[in-house]
Amino acid sequence: MELTTIATCFIILIGYKISSGAVHEWGYHHGVDPEHWKDLFPTCAGRQQSPIDIRTTKVQTDTRLGKFNFRGISLARDVKLELQNNGHAVQVGLKGHGLEVSGGGLPETYVVEQFHFHWGSEDTRGSEHEINGKHFSMEMHVVMHSGRFSSVSDAMQSKNGLAVLGFLFDVGSHNYVFDEIIHHLHDIEHRDDHVILKAFSLTSLFPSTDCYYRYYGSLTTPMCHESVIWTIFKQHIYISESQLNQFRHLGRTHFIGSDNLINNYRNPQPINCRVVTSNCIGSYTSTYAQESKSGVGQSYADDKNRYIKNFLMKHFPYLKWKFNKKDFP
Ligand SMILES: [Zn+2]
Ligand SMILES: [Zn+2]
Repeated sequence: MELTTIATCFIILIGYKISSGAVHEWGYHHGVDPEHWKDLFPTCAGRQQSPIDIRTTKVQTDTRLGKFNFRGISLARDVKLELQNNGHAVQVGLKGHGLEVSGGGLPETYVVEQFHFHWGSEDTRGSEHEINGKHFSMEMHVVMHSGRFSSVSDAMQSKNGLAVLGFLFDVGSHNYVFDEIIHHLHDIEHRDDHVILKAFSLTSLFPSTDCYYRYYGSLTTPMCHESVIWTIFKQHIYISESQLNQFRHLGRTHFIGSDNLINNYRNPQPINCRVVTSNCIGSYTSTYAQESKSGVGQSYADDKNRYIKNFLMKHFPYLKWKFNKKDFP
């Protein structure tokens, strides 16, 4: 009995030591939370922070924003994909040649270094960016650095040094292209765990990338450097509830000294003087673009609504302004 008590105290003591060591580290739940990042990292209180809430009625169309060229990342060979738990997110690091992205209104060529995920405990939270005040279940960030630099950390203090591609997630049916990542989440339950994935093309994870929002912002984690050209794609990625649950499972492992990997998102920051632009006009164009891609896991109700909308617009063209005004379906 006494021995057990001593052992328990010892374990508590070790636990205390480890967690107190993490006090000055940033986090979402343990250590320094997002509201206090600015105390340690003054840039996090800057005027051009990310994420933001995108108010679609205030978005301005910019016809100079062209299509992205993802040929480099879809054809890149011998790419090594390493899945890791970095203590704040699930991240896939890419190593290889020709992982380049151009077009999309970017001022130069950017090189993909990693992509990672932010997710929540419920379907209605998890994304960092919001659209008209609405959160989504998950958000994927493809982080790239300018070709002028050799890494994200080299580029992150330079204007336009970084570009991030953001994808919002909704719950739908099973999405097989995420299986290789999700099947290995069990291998990275502890911070700094990592495992090599079977190679796949990054673009296979993308939905239609025709329509997107553009604004200038920051990294959404400390040091919050304001060097990021942000792209948020209008078409969402759909994955199933049970696939999302496997990300959420990482938040329930409760290892001493590591942040719970759930609700690992920062809330929207003031937009201040910034303007969000888009290459597509209004919300109608984005719904139209969604149709051209055979939607993975989109519900029957969506299809039916779109069918009705198309029928109405074909036969009653004057209704078009109405659909342009409101998000439909
Ligand atoms: Zn991120
Ligand atoms: Zn497990």
